[in-house]
Amino acid sequence: MTARSGFVALAGRPNVGKSTLVNAMVGRKVAIVSDKPQTTRRAIRGVVTKPEQFQLVLTDLPGVQRPRDALTQRMQRRVETELAESDAALLVLNGEQGVGGPGDRFIAEALAGAKVPVVIAVNKVDAIRRDPTVAALQAADDLGLDAEVFPISARTGGGVGELTEHLAGLLPEGPFYFPPEEVSDQPERVMLAE
Ligand code: GDP
Ligand code: MG
Repeated sequence: MTARSGFVALAGRPNVGKSTLVNAMVGRKVAIVSDKPQTTRRAIRGVVTKPEQFQLVLTDLPGVQRPRDALTQRMQRRVETELAESDAALLVLNGEQGVGGPGDRFIAEALAGAKVPVVIAVNKVDAIRRDPTVAALQAADDLGLDAEVFPISARTGGGVGELTEHLAGLLPEGPFYFPPEEVSDQPERVMLAE
């Protein structure tokens, strides 16, 4: 198997569980110590490495986490610029709170023209029963993005492995951006900023 590596831009309203998900995917918090030019400008949240298989660099998709009156052209350009340097986008939704409100639709609108694959994670399904989960997954589908939808619990880790593997499969083949040891068992480096 050839290794895959690339950037995944994270989007989602505040409190949907983005930070919790990054921690669940990474396994532990890490500090990124790299001067690689392609990574300096970007807000890196975490790096998920499966040695010899894949490396996902999780970044923030800036500008669209909170709904405003309108999606301005400037905001849309910023999103497009970030996506142009990404290999996939991950939209995180809050299944517990109900999916498809103005905030979710606002972000979905910004992602609608994305040239990279968009994946949706409906989070916090540990906190809800089956019927609301099904309704949340349907509402995620109804956002109109051409995206695969994954039910997950960032808190318990449920579904996170499948999501990670799916994202990894979307990345191009290529060498890792960070040496695996830079993002593994180094407790003294544990300090990735929020
Ligand atoms: P962010 O603002 O998107 O980064 O969200 P956080 O990761 O800070 O999470 C916001 C709140 O949701 C915190 O209280 C988390 O503990 C909680 N949370 C995150 N993921 C889950 C989950 O899978 N299930 C439940 N029940 N709560 C979660
Ligand atoms: Mg956060």
